[in-house]
Amino acid sequence: MAMQGPSAAAGGALELLRGTFGHPAFRGPQEAIVSHLVSGGDALVLMPTGGGKSLCYQLPALLRPGTALVVSPLIALMRDQVTALEQLGVRAAFLNSSLDGRAAAAVERSFAAGGLDLLYVAPERLVMPRMLSLLEEAELALFAIDEAHCVSQWGHDFRPEYLQLSILHERFPQVPRIALTATADPQTRAEIIARLALDEARVFVSSFDRPNIRYTIVDKAEPRAQLLAFIRGAHYGHTGIVYCLSRRKVDETAAFLAAQGIKALPYHAGLDAETRSAHQARFQDEEGIVMVATIAFGMGIDKAEVRFVAHLDLPKSIEGYYQETGRAGRDGEPADAWMSYGLGDVVQQRRMIDQSEGSEDYKRVSVAKLDALLGLCETAGCRRVRLLDYFGETSTPCGNCDTCLEPPETWDAGEAARKALSTVYRTGQRFGAVHLIDVLRGKATDRVKSWNHDQLSVFGIGADLDDSEWRSVFRQLTALGFLRPDHEAYGALTLTEASRPVLKGETGVELRRVAQKKRSGTKRRGPATDLPAADAALLDALKAWRGGEARSQGVPAYVIFHDRTLAAIAALRPDTLEALGTLDGIGQKKLERYGEAILGLLAG
Ligand code: ADP
Ligand code: ZN
Repeated sequence: MAMQGPSAAAGGALELLRGTFGHPAFRGPQEAIVSHLVSGGDALVLMPTGGGKSLCYQLPALLRPGTALVVSPLIALMRDQVTALEQLGVRAAFLNSSLDGRAAAAVERSFAAGGLDLLYVAPERLVMPRMLSLLEEAELALFAIDEAHCVSQWGHDFRPEYLQLSILHERFPQVPRIALTATADPQTRAEIIARLALDEARVFVSSFDRPNIRYTIVDKAEPRAQLLAFIRGAHYGHTGIVYCLSRRKVDETAAFLAAQGIKALPYHAGLDAETRSAHQARFQDEEGIVMVATIAFGMGIDKAEVRFVAHLDLPKSIEGYYQETGRAGRDGEPADAWMSYGLGDVVQQRRMIDQSEGSEDYKRVSVAKLDALLGLCETAGCRRVRLLDYFGETSTPCGNCDTCLEPPETWDAGEAARKALSTVYRTGQRFGAVHLIDVLRGKATDRVKSWNHDQLSVFGIGADLDDSEWRSVFRQLTALGFLRPDHEAYGALTLTEASRPVLKGETGVELRRVAQKKRSGTKRRGPATDLPAADAALLDALKAWRGGEARSQGVPAYVIFHDRTLAAIAALRPDTLEALGTLDGIGQKKLERYGEAILGLLAG
């Protein structure tokens, strides 16, 4: 049936959104994107994680004749999406290296016969001659290129196979294309447009704000104890992710949390595939699992009820930080992004850049990206304003980040900075912060004495500040570019051009004061859904029923129903199928499949 132009398509889209996907309304620019694609246009979609990108190609896939090809870099993500679509009664399948020859051939046959609405394909497979000739024979609804930032060579997820995807436009110029990403800095955007030949595409930019996420960055003192206090204080029993840089730290942190009675599991590329997928499955299916992970854990998790994301180490860039923290609170309920950050993080990240194999250009870009992130960590202003500004959005202080809730004091640190920099100079620019602080505070340690640093004029000139205050001074001076770690010399702090006027007293320095010792910031919150007690029992019953369904079908629990859908059922107690069908997350197919069982539970 021919479409009657954009407005009729949009009408059909809303019906599909409600009937098949069970959502009452479009979110943000979804509707405009869908109708643009349905009428044959190309699109570049920049939307934050959790913003609802999938629907932007899934609806046009159903509204246009033929099969939509979805390019996705991750096997786990494809499988989950296909499972979720099948639950909705949509004809979807995937082709990737996890299928054996026979299963792949069956999918290909079904595709060739026009039996699929959506086909998910790994990028390397899509551009193989065999696949391309299959595509020539078929009717194609559209190409969707998910995680499109993977074409960016300077990005953090570069995949060489993605560069070949420009062939799709050359071979199939009449098929509309939609590229989607959650990475929105202008440079990556330009690279996507250039490399995928999307010059004609309409660009849809959503707000990158995630208002339900509260950003907090604390001074790193005792990181594990701080993490434990944070989890116990605000997120006991909640699902969360803790990111660490190294595998060893992942293992140690997971063991530490487990010993403290928290359901923590490790995840990194050094674990065997079986353990990894078992841990991922538990994270998806069970409640209250804390996954301690390297960034190997990320793309492809679609758990909407992650209540917190914690960083024990500094990521490489704001994009990385934003993408990782974006995995919190995808259900829209309050969530926390918490990070502990110290001088060691700055030194470590600088070392990784200096010692990387990349070109000078690459290193320059990496340093600039790190500096932008350090600016976020050190700001005395609203974190969200800073974050959004990085993505090109102007905003006003949010009232839901640590600096808004408890504005940090700044102090005139010109004299302290002078003392710190002089000590670096007097000791020969060969020592790290620990030793420098000992000298400043006049601690005659063996190391200090062995270098005769107790004889220097700077010995003891910083007795007015304590260790943590000096740590914070060194960290900020480094983050602000007045000191630079020298990796040839094991992270010794050295002076920079910028430090000269400070040393001479020609410029002042304004620094943040270290946070007071009192517990603050993460106030205890109630559980995500505050239901009366009787309904809580009903909610438990619904969850138990969902767990049984999930197990018997061998799918993750959230593809049956999200927590928020169960919560709505328990709160509203609908007594007819019609009433049940009005709830967000219950489309036609799920109503047919599970409606009676749920009404039975509610009646019982
Ligand atoms: P992204 O790919 O942008 O990270 P998803 O497409 O996975 O996000 O969507 C995130 C969550 O939002 C999913 O649980 C999805 O069901 C939900 N969602 C998307 N669009 C809507 C909508 N219009 N109404 C209600 N929920 C939506
Ligand atoms: Zn704020």
